[in-house]
Amino acid sequence: AFDVLVVGGGPAGAAAAIYAARKGIRTGVAAERFGGQVLDTMAIENFISVQETEGPKLAMALEAHVKQYEVDVMNLQKATALIPAGDDGLVEVQLENGASLKSKTVILSTGARWRKMEVPGEEEYRNKGVAYCPHCDGPLFKGKRVAVIGGGNSGVEAAIDLAGIVSHVTLIEFGSALRADQVLQNKLHSLANVNVIMNAQTTEVRGDGNKVTGLVYTDRTNGASNTVDLEGIFVQIGLLPNTEFLKGTVELSNRGEIVIDERGQTNVPGVFAAGDCTTVPYKQIVIAVGAGATASLAAFDHLIRSSAP
Ligand code: FAD
Repeated sequence: AFDVLVVGGGPAGAAAAIYAARKGIRTGVAAERFGGQVLDTMAIENFISVQETEGPKLAMALEAHVKQYEVDVMNLQKATALIPAGDDGLVEVQLENGASLKSKTVILSTGARWRKMEVPGEEEYRNKGVAYCPHCDGPLFKGKRVAVIGGGNSGVEAAIDLAGIVSHVTLIEFGSALRADQVLQNKLHSLANVNVIMNAQTTEVRGDGNKVTGLVYTDRTNGASNTVDLEGIFVQIGLLPNTEFLKGTVELSNRGEIVIDERGQTNVPGVFAAGDCTTVPYKQIVIAVGAGATASLAAFDHLIRSSAP
């Protein structure tokens, strides 16, 4: 059995594994895809002390750093269930391949995925104008025209944020009203370079083969199809935590995020969590890395206080 078993191999999981291994305890990482979301992006400019890198490069660096230590890395392994410790004091993690792993502590760091619009052009122009993270990619659109899809809190926050950087923001909302907090809506409406289109269903991302040139939406009040010329589209229709397999075992928020305290502890003894899959505010690489370290130190603390050798 492991002392610390990390489930998920993104920035949070890598940090957790390194912190655990440096304590000289038996550490394992089971990850569906080692590297995590950073594999899906190119320019990363806000991982502090690294002025500029590319996603796949950062993923390789995470893996190389983990492999500096005695960590049992089990890549391409998807967890399908977690069973809290019984009398033997071991938490069990079941894998899709039928195997199961046991550990005194488990750190869940399964991350999240952005909900997509699922329209033609979205996948083709991903990272070529289609973006999901205003903190990450906003500055790339300095002085350009962008749209934000989604009128919930994250969409309206993104529109306010981007309005300070880009030349113009079009906020597209499917429903007949924005769902963001009133104070955010007031702020939004006070900005001169933002317009809001309600009752609009995005149907296509247009591009010139290299980058985004516009988006097409249907006006749901009359069925008319309209085009907006622009250079960027920020999709803000939800971030879905990869926690479906924990339902009924680990306490989740109403958004499916693992509920943790400030040490990364979940409601299940010996089970900790870190990164985008948790209730941590703001989902960023630098935050996930810090949270992974926190959860790992908390797991170690748990181990030295528990009686099992
Ligand atoms: P993830 O990176 O999501 O890693 C989760 C890990 O868990 C993966 O290894 C995954 O395969 C694994 N996993 C999932 N489910 C299971 C399961 N059931 N069993 C086993 N393993 C599982 N942030 C920035 O700070 N700067 C940026 O510039 C930036 N750009 C981004 C661009 C894009 C396109 C995207 C999608 C995200 C970007 N982010 C950026 C956000 C950043 O990538 C995340 O905040 C960060 O990766 C979160 O780390 P994590 O370890 O919590 O989760």
